[in-house]
Amino acid sequence: MADSERAQRHRNRMQRKKEVVDAAIAHADREQGLLLVLTGNGKGKSSSAFGMMARALGHGMRVGVAQFIKGRSDTGEEAFFRTQGNVIWHVLGEGFTWDTQNLERDTETAQRGWAIVQTMLRDPSLDLIILDELTYPLKFGWLDLTTVLNDLKHRPPMQHVVITGRGAPDALCDAADTVTEMTDIKHAFRSGIQAQKGIDL
Ligand code: ATP
Ligand code: MG
Repeated sequence: MADSERAQRHRNRMQRKKEVVDAAIAHADREQGLLLVLTGNGKGKSSSAFGMMARALGHGMRVGVAQFIKGRSDTGEEAFFRTQGNVIWHVLGEGFTWDTQNLERDTETAQRGWAIVQTMLRDPSLDLIILDELTYPLKFGWLDLTTVLNDLKHRPPMQHVVITGRGAPDALCDAADTVTEMTDIKHAFRSGIQAQKGIDL
């Protein structure tokens, strides 16, 4: 095939692609607050959520964060975002009792946490809310899924919410606008490498 013919084919192909993309963009003409769920066993759920947080802050938006499982208190994201304006940061899992398996206390802690989230979900000045690891209290039954779904549904119409955690319940994924499942293909931890600053925490 001559070079000119190859170039013409390429132009035709790109033109068809452009038409498809332009039509898709023209079709997506609404604006609304989104509910996103980042789930699955692979790495990248919380870090993706905090990437969106950086984007939102860059646009001058206000962001609220609620972390439901406090695995550690020394994460880079917490240290960094707490120094920024427009950020409200709640750690709601401090009282979770992994050792004693005290269901009553865990339920109480989770519900106290959800009450704080409810105040954020009623605050239209918050443009984005990140509910990090929310799937765990749902999975363990510490929070009532119906209540959570109902509160999410009645949030301000332009407020975005990102929920992270493994094993997101089907009903939550059904309610979401965007759902991503991170697939675990390989993780350094399994070859004996400990969590690395800046990458894992
Ligand atoms: P990250 O915060 O890095 O985006 P994540 O939110 O997707 O991870 P979590 O289930 O919240 O994953 O786990 C948090 C920690 O466990 C992180 O340090 C992460 O690197 C690590 N981790 C995530 N997935 C795996 C995995 N499949 N195997 C081992 N460790 C993992
Ligand atoms: Mg996480």
